[in-house]
Amino acid sequence: AAARVLTGGVRLPPMPTIRDLVKLYKLQAIKYMSQNFIMDERLTDKIVKSAGRIDPHDTVLEVGPGPGGITRSIIRRTPGRLVLVEKDARFMPALELLKECARPLQTQVDIYEGDILRFDIEKHVSEIEHRLHLIGNLPFSISTRLLINWIHDLSLRRGAFRRSDTAMTLTFQKEVAERICAPLGHDQRCRLSIMSQIWTQPLMKFIIPGKAFVPKPDVDVGVVKLIPLKQPKTLLPFELVERVVRHVFNMRQKYCRRGYSTLFPPKDRDDITDSLFELADVDPIIRPFELSVEEHLRLATVYAEFMQKHPEFADYDYRGRKQPVENYLD
Ligand code: SAM
Repeated sequence: AAARVLTGGVRLPPMPTIRDLVKLYKLQAIKYMSQNFIMDERLTDKIVKSAGRIDPHDTVLEVGPGPGGITRSIIRRTPGRLVLVEKDARFMPALELLKECARPLQTQVDIYEGDILRFDIEKHVSEIEHRLHLIGNLPFSISTRLLINWIHDLSLRRGAFRRSDTAMTLTFQKEVAERICAPLGHDQRCRLSIMSQIWTQPLMKFIIPGKAFVPKPDVDVGVVKLIPLKQPKTLLPFELVERVVRHVFNMRQKYCRRGYSTLFPPKDRDDITDSLFELADVDPIIRPFELSVEEHLRLATVYAEFMQKHPEFADYDYRGRKQPVENYLD
């Protein structure tokens, strides 16, 4: 790619604009699928630039390409391979057109029609000798779910994370993006912040005003890049950490010991909690959002050790049922 320009990448062969494509294939956004398109090329370039350097051998996996605005910006950066996963079949002809355009640039484009939450990355991106970038502007509910799935995969070094340098560049509703990145003491700090920050370094790249989308959503959007930590902050299992952090944040306005204590049955709750906080060397009367990631992890570690000695408490659930892990925004 001699014509490769550092910032914007190469020029694509002449082709219809995204706006024309949307008209040509009658691709009205479907509201219940939360489809909002970005037509502005400068903005799609900026999203892709947030992903960092893309080398000619790299693979990019784009989730929810839709009519292909971000896709074009990726192709201009000439990765070796571009994998597209899109649920809505209506976009396939537009994406096929992009695939043809990418051919002379030596970017191999593979299009999959399907749900990213069920997509087997290990099967479809089996080569691991090249770096993988994950990029997507997805509906908000899915991007949070997907992020958690991917952090889980990262903790197990599976799927997209068999290499340690697979970064994610994803869009979220602005408030959710702020939560992911929220530092110690920030009033937006929640379970999602802690789970993100144990395994990755999340960076808020920039905010896209809602009016930049067609149709315009009611909210602004944050672009977040999450870089896997070379050394994750723990080797504890994801589910165990998740359980502890969830309990702690269940009572976010109370002292942190309150939520934590609900990991144990009422009869033993106070004694166990006191001794575990002491063992973990954590102040029990600060609020959940005032705990550092390391403190959350120390509380998880002493909980794990306690459970090994007292497996009889393992299935205890203070609400009498398994908690859904879906709602990460509490
Ligand atoms: N990337 C395009 C853009 O920025 O203009 C479209 C963004 S639109 C907000 C979200 C896209 O994700 C839509 O094309 C939608 O069909 C697709 N999508 C929604 N849920 C999906 C899923 N579970 N798996 C794959 N694609 C999905």
